[in-house]
Amino acid sequence: QWIYLDHAFVRKEEAVVSVYDHGFLYGDGVFEGIRVYSGNIFKLDEHLKRLYQSAQSIMLEIPYTKEELQQIIIETIRKNELDTAYIRLVVSRGQGNLGLDPASCARPRLVVIAEALSLFPKELYQRGLSLGSVATRRNRPDVLSPQVKSLNYLNNILVKLEANQAGVDEALMLNDQGYVTEGSADNIFIVKNKKIVTPPVYLGALEGITRNAIIDLARTLNYEVVEAPFTRHDVYVADEVFLTGTAVEVIAAVQVDGRKIGEGIPGDVTNHLLAAFREIVTRDGVP
Ligand code: PLP
Repeated sequence: QWIYLDHAFVRKEEAVVSVYDHGFLYGDGVFEGIRVYSGNIFKLDEHLKRLYQSAQSIMLEIPYTKEELQQIIIETIRKNELDTAYIRLVVSRGQGNLGLDPASCARPRLVVIAEALSLFPKELYQRGLSLGSVATRRNRPDVLSPQVKSLNYLNNILVKLEANQAGVDEALMLNDQGYVTEGSADNIFIVKNKKIVTPPVYLGALEGITRNAIIDLARTLNYEVVEAPFTRHDVYVADEVFLTGTAVEVIAAVQVDGRKIGEGIPGDVTNHLLAAFREIVTRDGVP
């Protein structure tokens, strides 16, 4: 396996970075996770746009143009002879001294990893997930914007740890007012009387690329989709609940804080959207 590191392809075993890299020392950097379906890089433009916006927000200048980065991604996939893959793009602040001031870092570091995709087990999609709401709140957008996909994911990690402790598959994260925001690394949707609702991102959710793709897809399938705030109660009484994300795609949640959702199995709307999503992923991308 070949990894793109700074300016060259190196073997996985040799792909190491300095302990003085501020990505390691402070979580100073940004990242993206991208999927490749049968040679199609799904929503590559959107992922690159988000990466550059994350970088812009934290004053990190990516030393490549979008076109160069796109080319590097394509080459990484080719070099690893992959057809269906998961790509992890990381841009760290780079190597500096022990102080946290990014001024000591001469140049950001780019890492591109492309791996054969390890799919989530089929049973999980047939059975559906259990969710549990956690005490850790989504960081306030005015403190650190959830739109910045930074290497500092401690908020989400704490949420995941809580979910693990509670013995549920995934966490339900609220904001400081108690409104539902998202999971630890996925967006949430509820379905009530065929109407699909997802939280507006200003409540404190990452504007997921899969989320946006599902909103578009659902609308083309003539579902009503709205972005509106909701609470845990609304989730408990929903007909269906599902999560979206680059890793999970579209997956049902059938139990939330011990309450059975609907019939306790993935619902029709969720199944419909998952099937439709799997159809578009090979089309809607960069070949
Ligand atoms: N929310 C968070 C916090 C995430 O890290 C992710 C993963 O990227 C998502 C939601 C889902 O976003 P996307 O669909 O762009 O993968």
